[in-house]
Amino acid sequence: MDLDEVRGWIDDARRIVALTGAGISTDSGIPDFRGPQGVWTKNPRAEKLSNIHHYLSDPEVRKASWQSRLNSPAWNASPNPGHLALVALERRGKLHALITQNIDELHQLAGNSPERVIEVHGTMRKFMCWGCGMRGPMQKVLERVRAGEPDPKCRDCGGILKSDTISFGQQLVPEVIDRAMQAAGEADLFIAVGTSLQVYPVAGAFDIARGAGAKTVIVNAEPTPYDAVADAVLSSSISEVLPAIARGRESASRSLQ
Ligand SMILES: [Zn+2]
Repeated sequence: MDLDEVRGWIDDARRIVALTGAGISTDSGIPDFRGPQGVWTKNPRAEKLSNIHHYLSDPEVRKASWQSRLNSPAWNASPNPGHLALVALERRGKLHALITQNIDELHQLAGNSPERVIEVHGTMRKFMCWGCGMRGPMQKVLERVRAGEPDPKCRDCGGILKSDTISFGQQLVPEVIDRAMQAAGEADLFIAVGTSLQVYPVAGAFDIARGAGAKTVIVNAEPTPYDAVADAVLSSSISEVLPAIARGRESASRSLQ
């Protein structure tokens, strides 16, 4: 596929909706859970830690989870050129919405407006109380873990605290999914980046965008179930391809002169 052609689609688009998955953050040093080098592929026990039923019923699982949060590579991660390319799209006035399956907030750290980012799996940078629903900055709870509380409880209600993310076995937030699907239906160009497009209902955003007439582009290292119907499939490095297509045809040709 000619990158220049996709660049032209982006130039012509007015309401781009991007859907991002773990693949966009691997170049920032955050491992993909399901990929060949993924956390769950290499250590199936890690999946148990992210199951809500185990988490709520077993203090040992919670203690291990807090240690794992404390040591997450995400705390030291910086946005990479793939994230910055999506910021460039927003600055060009083209980004209608950014739906992400990631919980690392690297899109917001890169400079995308928080109100454009739809976090379908929540964020690891906040905590939430399973008892009273209170939310706050995750670092405040991590400080308590560092200070020696292995399984800190809510200071208001004594409830179990957890990262404000969707664990396995936990319901997605219907309002957030509705917002994502509505945005997908308003897209004139839909770009799926670093996602296997296998996790529903989020992957269904692709069908909704395509059904509403959007052009569709997939940027992912591995094949996805939608490759055959996408208008373009780009399988090289996200942090190289995304900047190359996002900067626009005119500036791309200027930089070659
Ligand atoms: Zn509480």
